Amino acid sequence: MNIVVQKFGGTSVASLSTQLEVMKKVMRPYREGNKVVVVLSAMAGETNRLLALANEWVTTPDAAEMDSLVSTGEQVSCALFSMLLKNQGIRARSVLGFQAPIRTDCSFGKARIVDIDTTALFEMLEDHDVLVVAGFQGCEDGRRITTLGRGGSDTSAVAMAAALKAEVCEIYTDVPGVFTTDPNICSDATKIDRIAYDEMLEMASMGAKVLQIRSVEFAKKYNVTVHVRSTFSDEQGTLVCQEDDDMEAVLVSGIAYDKDQARITLVHVEDRPGVSAAIFSPLAERKILVDMIVQNPSKGSKTDMTFTVPKADIKQTLKVLEDLRYEIGYEDLLSSSDVSKVSIIGVGMRNHSGVASRAFRALADENINILMISTSEIKVSFLIDEKYTELAVRTLHKEFALHEGGIQQESCTG
Ligand code: ADP
Ligand code: ASP
Ligand code: MG
Repeated sequence: MNIVVQKFGGTSVASLSTQLEVMKKVMRPYREGNKVVVVLSAMAGETNRLLALANEWVTTPDAAEMDSLVSTGEQVSCALFSMLLKNQGIRARSVLGFQAPIRTDCSFGKARIVDIDTTALFEMLEDHDVLVVAGFQGCEDGRRITTLGRGGSDTSAVAMAAALKAEVCEIYTDVPGVFTTDPNICSDATKIDRIAYDEMLEMASMGAKVLQIRSVEFAKKYNVTVHVRSTFSDEQGTLVCQEDDDMEAVLVSGIAYDKDQARITLVHVEDRPGVSAAIFSPLAERKILVDMIVQNPSKGSKTDMTFTVPKADIKQTLKVLEDLRYEIGYEDLLSSSDVSKVSIIGVGMRNHSGVASRAFRALADENINILMISTSEIKVSFLIDEKYTELAVRTLHKEFALHEGGIQQESCTG
């Protein structure tokens, strides 16, 4: 049995007319005699609508009920799309997370897939040619519905492809592939034909929401080739795959930005062993993702600790730190949500220095102040004032000549 896995995002299933486009894409592998597993997102805007509804009801909605609520978006799109297919005489059915079943841990709102038992799926594929699977949702051992975090349908699809041993997982979206940066904010962005898992992982972690991070982790772990492409055209998209030598030839391959950042500073923390653990362990226990961390010595035996968290977690982070004020021993707690993170990414940076200094100069020439910096082997990130995000992205995109294929290692002098 040859299985093709295709995933369609929110804009692709947004209306009857776009769902008819989706149907055309599904018909291609179906007509070729493949079994097709179609993973769908909720119709565009629906997940946000449901989140807003809950937040209107209560200030801190119960996490498990929240997942029962937001997962309904995918149920609607799957049922509607299955109806369309059946109306064409295709043997299709919808499959919800608990029916597959997609088993997750019980971290409501950011659950991780632990296992997909394919027995039931293969049974369903005996009687059906197309399974329309609800993305974003799973179920935990206590049989409650869970969701996988924003953009989680990408992860559902790649996990499905890995479990069913499909050769490729096609991710259909509203852009024709992965670009050197978000094509919606930089008209010079160019499509990347092939991108290494590690690079894509950094792009996704640094904010390029075209793929959810976990989906790339799954793809890398299970060696699934991901083909990101448009629902609304037939052009070849981007293959996310194993790295090869050609990929290292380019110094910087992409620029990502993340406006979902908030900065927190603990002023005059006691500079003693164990203080970082006292601050960050309680946050880790609550699954709050701390990103950039900078420690600056200040007066005497004191230090200032600054770090970033997702905007959605700022209230909870401040509450945790306020409750621990005397245990940690700090003088003041400051926070700001008007910041964003801009990152330059490229496997070519591994064996080349000078990239960061070149970026500093380019940003300085535009009068953009850098608030924090963090680096890894293949990326450099800058925290800046949020209002300069687009300018910073365009400036760095131009600096590293991404509009014309990037800077080749040989011609680089930095
Ligand atoms: P879907 O609903 O299909 O999952 P998303 O909105 O989650 O789509 O992801 C697609 C969007 O990702 C694009 O519309 C684009 O604005 C954004 N994006 C950010 N960075 C990139 C990038 N480097 N390449 C392509 N798209 C990007
Ligand atoms: N509907 C969910 C969201 O909007 C999941 C997804 O689209 O991937 O985040
Ligand atoms: Mg998405």
